[in-house]
Amino acid sequence: MCIFCDIIDHKIPSRVVYENDDVLAILDISQVTYGHTIVMPKKHFRNILEADDKSVSECIKAARIVSGMAVNNCHAKGVNVLNNCGETAGQTVDHLHFHVIPRYGRNDSIHISFNPSEKQDLDAVLAMLKG
Ligand code: AMP
Ligand code: ZN
Repeated sequence: MCIFCDIIDHKIPSRVVYENDDVLAILDISQVTYGHTIVMPKKHFRNILEADDKSVSECIKAARIVSGMAVNNCHAKGVNVLNNCGETAGQTVDHLHFHVIPRYGRNDSIHISFNPSEKQDLDAVLAMLKG
């Protein structure tokens, strides 16, 4: 059982922001910021690593459309497009989705900061990443 599949199948109500044959974008039930939207493929995949290319690219295209809606219609000053992949990354619903989080200023209710970790040997990092 998957809550997002149930939403796609209209078994659970949602507020549809955008929809086409491949994707559904709905208002997130807990609005981190005004207009916070979830974009998901209509096909079930657990996460971005398991999804097919078309579903990922259609989600990103839809996320761009929704981002434009937030900026043009809600007067957001910027947007974060975010995917949580895996429990460690904060994924709570195991159906691939992207958060579109409109941003209104420093005092809005999301804070993303990139704090450098200990200094890394970038050549070693690169070699490890490339396998
Ligand atoms: P994540 O933590 O990345 O897996 O995000 C899951 C998101 O789905 C959360 O932001 C929830 O608020 C949202 N969510 C869960 N159930 C619903 C629902 N029935 N309708 C809309 N959004 C939901
Ligand atoms: Zn699903």
